[in-house]
Amino acid sequence: MVVLEKQNYEILIIGSGEAGKFLAWTMAKTGRRTVVVERKLIGGSCPNIACLPSKNIIHSAKVAELARRGAEFGVNTGPVTVEMTGVRARKRKMVDGMIDIHLDRYKASGAELILGEARFVAPKTVEVKSHDGGVLTIQGDQVFLNVGTRAAVPDIPGLRSAKPLTHVEVLELDRLPEHLLVLGGGFVGLELAQAMRRFGSEVTVLQQGAQLADREDPDIAAELLSLFQDEGINVLLNTELLKVKGLSGRQVKARLGTPQGERTIEASHILAAAGRTPNTQGLDLENAGVELDTRGYIRVNERLQTTAPSIWAMGDCAGSPHFTHVSFDDFRIVHDNLSGGNRTTQDRLIPFCLFSDPELARVGLSETEAQNRGISYRLAKLPIAAVLRTRTLSETRGFLKALVSTTSDDILGFTALGVNAGEMMSVVQTAMLAKQPYTVLRDAIFAHPTMAEGLGGLFASIPARSKTGAGAVPG
Ligand SMILES: Cc1cc2nc3c(=O)[nH]c(=O)nc-3n(C[C@H](O)[C@H](O)[C@H](O)COP(=O)(O)OP(=O)(O)OC[C@H]3O[C@@H](n4cnc5c(N)ncnc54)[C@H](O)[C@@H]3O)c2cc1C
Repeated sequence: MVVLEKQNYEILIIGSGEAGKFLAWTMAKTGRRTVVVERKLIGGSCPNIACLPSKNIIHSAKVAELARRGAEFGVNTGPVTVEMTGVRARKRKMVDGMIDIHLDRYKASGAELILGEARFVAPKTVEVKSHDGGVLTIQGDQVFLNVGTRAAVPDIPGLRSAKPLTHVEVLELDRLPEHLLVLGGGFVGLELAQAMRRFGSEVTVLQQGAQLADREDPDIAAELLSLFQDEGINVLLNTELLKVKGLSGRQVKARLGTPQGERTIEASHILAAAGRTPNTQGLDLENAGVELDTRGYIRVNERLQTTAPSIWAMGDCAGSPHFTHVSFDDFRIVHDNLSGGNRTTQDRLIPFCLFSDPELARVGLSETEAQNRGISYRLAKLPIAAVLRTRTLSETRGFLKALVSTTSDDILGFTALGVNAGEMMSVVQTAMLAKQPYTVLRDAIFAHPTMAEGLGGLFASIPARSKTGAGAVPG
């Protein structure tokens, strides 16, 4: 082991996730001596093991589905078979390309990238075991933590010893699971469950709560459930995983607690998609004076400053909503404030998109949130089949939902379950950011036949404002 002398940098970043890498490139370009310590994933989770590879695999699954539906479009195909090695090869090619792009950006910016695992040995000082066997001590004038999260494996008897797949391994499969048991009906579980079903696996989703996508409205969740069931995905709601026996990849027996009593289900693989754990253990943050909250996330204020002077945290590990676009905005907040600005994490309008097929996207309030917060609203709903674009695509399932204030024409929230829902949501989000009344979208001339055209019909069915300001009253 080679122990090198202590090095000093103006900017020390631990973790090359979304926020960390953009901060590194931006700071280095202005001539600041900048280093990033990254233990494995050049560019962080998103391009390597999370957003982009999962969407890549989901698209392969869509191709399989369209190939099976070929006759419906007048296209004859032979029997459809899926080679997971081919699926994986396309994904790997994309990831390799992303890594090259990242390395080029490091080079062009002048930021140094050290591959190794960091842990704090003193305030603003880390020891790094680098991959080439050396041990470095690095001190930063300003330190930024962007260490992300990883898949949580719940403490259920037998689950850990069953060596469940996480999103990391599912995205690397070279053989199709015969029967995949998916633990968790949140966005990671749902996206991967549908993709694996379309590749040809038998899939069972276990969801502890009463609906899938538990942050969404019950009507949205019910439609999603029926879409999944119609694809032959077995969804077990109100179901608790009590015990697991066996080894994922060979055979697992899962003991389930259901409203009808206990039962056992057998599967070939199990996928843990039941939440995230922050990568804060092993960093010895106490040596730096950086405190954690009760869930193990780094305690930060609304400017993303930690409890230690000149140390910031950004992205998932700071407890920010777990999205790449939020991590990117965390970078902008920290950077803007260091450049004399004054931005906080308060009142951000954060959109969400579940890349099921069709997509589920939301910005602003759901109906349930409005009700829980006692906010009255005017409501419009439109079946997505009313948007003529869906007819051209033979993708007519789902619906649109908008909430508008009862005391003004402000848009409070928009949810879309349907083809290209994420893109439609961005149109509404833009109007919300520009603080435009809903009537702007109602009266806009959208190109025909686009999905955005449906916004005209949706917002036209918002009830007129009553003189008393009363509207759809919270239920
Ligand atoms: C399957 C899946 C699909 C997803 N899809 C989407 C999506 O479609 N859209 C979306 O917005 N979000 C999606 N997400 C969430 C998104 O991936 C994360 O919110 C995002 O990557 C957060 O990035 P980050 O900047 O917080 O950190 P990360 O990108 O996780 O980066 C943290 C980095 O720190 C490194 N690190 C950790 N500890 C140390 C240490 N001690 N020393 C050195 N390095 C260390 C890690 O190796 C990692 O590279 C998805 C997540 C999953 C799991």
